[in-house]
Amino acid sequence: MKKVVAIDGPSGSGKTTIARLIALKLGFNYLDTGALYRAVALALRSRKIEPEDSDDILKNVLDKINVRFGNGKVFLDGRDVSEEIRSKEIDHYSSVFSTRKIVRDFLLGAQRNAALETDLVVEGRDTTTVIFPDAVKKIFLDASVEERARRRYIQFKIKGFDIDMEEARKGIIERDKRDSDRDIAPLKKAPGALVIDSSDLPIEKVEDRIIKFIKTDP
Ligand code: C5P
Repeated sequence: MKKVVAIDGPSGSGKTTIARLIALKLGFNYLDTGALYRAVALALRSRKIEPEDSDDILKNVLDKINVRFGNGKVFLDGRDVSEEIRSKEIDHYSSVFSTRKIVRDFLLGAQRNAALETDLVVEGRDTTTVIFPDAVKKIFLDASVEERARRRYIQFKIKGFDIDMEEARKGIIERDKRDSDRDIAPLKKAPGALVIDSSDLPIEKVEDRIIKFIKTDP
């Protein structure tokens, strides 16, 4: 395994933006593991699979699909779905289907293989705890519910989705609960992780802190 910097945190904490910046600065590859879960949710929903469906039904789909992340984009069966996965529906279903062991197992190899040949900045919910427990540096990026809801609201508005602040807030709270309370690979702070609350910090400050942390020994 090459050098891995792993960043976990709840939705809207700014992981994706910061992970891209850090990867660029370090010259590492970048992996957005949430995009993989979103692509799987898209594949399942486009086949009308429901959250209550059995593992066998899910497996039948998973056996047939190919999900890949490269150059900041996610591909489902060779098709770039990077925009399509950013809908309110996929926000919801990615968090629902990611509670299923069969889905997590399906994506395990793709995530670990990303660090076989190149240094990697990876971000998600369990990258510091389950996927790369030996990452050289671990970061837990957080922000208040209000700030994360505000960011989500702005992101959706820019895309032209119909949403109000209360809906954005409820969505964040619901996903936080599901991501943190699930039995398998819940979101939690890894021992030794640098914890940053980005609620009141400009992105450059967050980046500076992380770069300083990465440069400290060991
Ligand atoms: O990070 P993002 O919001 O794009 O992730 C979408 C969903 O995928 C999350 O709500 C979470 O439930 C799931 N996920 C996960 N494990 C990861 C990354 C994302 O369970 N490592």
